[in-house]
Amino acid sequence: MLLLIPGPVTTRPEVRQAMTRDIAPWDNDFRHFFTRLRSRVLKLAGGVEGQHATLPLQGCGHFIAEAALRTFLPPGGRILIPATGAYADRMIRLAREAGRVPVPLPMGLTDATDPQAVARALEADPTLTHVAMVYSETGSGVIHDVQAVGAEVRKAGRRMIIDAVSAFGAFPLDLAAQPEVDAAVFTTNKCLEALPGVAFAVARIDRLLDCAGNAGSWSLDLSNVYDHALRSGWGSFRFTPPAQILAALDVALDYHDAEGQTARLARYTANMRIFYDGVRDLGLTPWLPASRQGPVIVNVHAPADPAWNLQAFVDALKPRGVLISNFYNTPSPTFRVGCIGAITPDDMAGAVHAMDQALREIGIKNREAVQT
Ligand SMILES: *Cc1c(COP(=O)(O)O)cnc(C)c1O
Repeated sequence: MLLLIPGPVTTRPEVRQAMTRDIAPWDNDFRHFFTRLRSRVLKLAGGVEGQHATLPLQGCGHFIAEAALRTFLPPGGRILIPATGAYADRMIRLAREAGRVPVPLPMGLTDATDPQAVARALEADPTLTHVAMVYSETGSGVIHDVQAVGAEVRKAGRRMIIDAVSAFGAFPLDLAAQPEVDAAVFTTNKCLEALPGVAFAVARIDRLLDCAGNAGSWSLDLSNVYDHALRSGWGSFRFTPPAQILAALDVALDYHDAEGQTARLARYTANMRIFYDGVRDLGLTPWLPASRQGPVIVNVHAPADPAWNLQAFVDALKPRGVLISNFYNTPSPTFRVGCIGAITPDDMAGAVHAMDQALREIGIKNREAVQT
């Protein structure tokens, strides 16, 4: 089955195979393993030993994003968040419900974040200590330039948090070159092509020391995760970890090393192109223009045919070996298809073919985009 949902993603059998053992997380074998895994992740993020720390949290992307917001912003702290789409909205909600003050920067959903607009917003409001941004906006499929925005944040003397959940592993991240970044956050189960269950922040140690006591939550306090590592060792995971997920991640990172970030990005880009052109050839309309389309996720306009029903389409695809999401992430109805995971352009061509058949099966004659 191709999981094009997009995250969790299709994984290699060798990665899943790593999960078949019982593991004692306080055993020295695990400690050695996890110390090494932390360094591997740090290196992938372009972090510097002694300046940055890899901080794990059991759970998902929302948890680590909330943990970063709580840790690096004090209660009532104000943070600018470019309103890039559904995942920026999630960060806005996480910040608000944690008692921080998110200030959305309005922008077009199909636009890339304008670094100058961020610079102007920071200049106009000196109470904004931080900017949080989504690197790969999974809602729209647009990739945002965290390096260019970061340069403006740095110039303005403010701090930054990067949601790299659907970018990390495929897009470049060089935290050594971005000292304005308090933390970049991501999970095991998107472009790293491992299983879901662990989230990471790669964070600046000097800022973790400044921010002890901010979080107002023991579970989501990254300063405390850091403190735990200092007291109990870098091989120790605070509270019980899903150790099998970490074992699978280690194997997934071997494949990542072998492929390399640049080649992974090229493969995802090839996946996206085959799919994007393929659905256009079927008479469907991608939601983004080709010039804005990123390689992680493609939204496709729902066909205008009255027989259209997303769940029926999803159900007709499944026996053909393709699984996609059964919800919309865009203001107008679309279906979304992930191009990431252990999949190839041939798999994407197969998915396009399956979609053609599924559309026929559910009785779609008019494939033109629904007018909104
Ligand atoms: C998937 C995703 C998240 C949330 O991840 P969960 O693991 O579902 O909590 C956050 N941000 C982005 C950009 C994502 O793609």
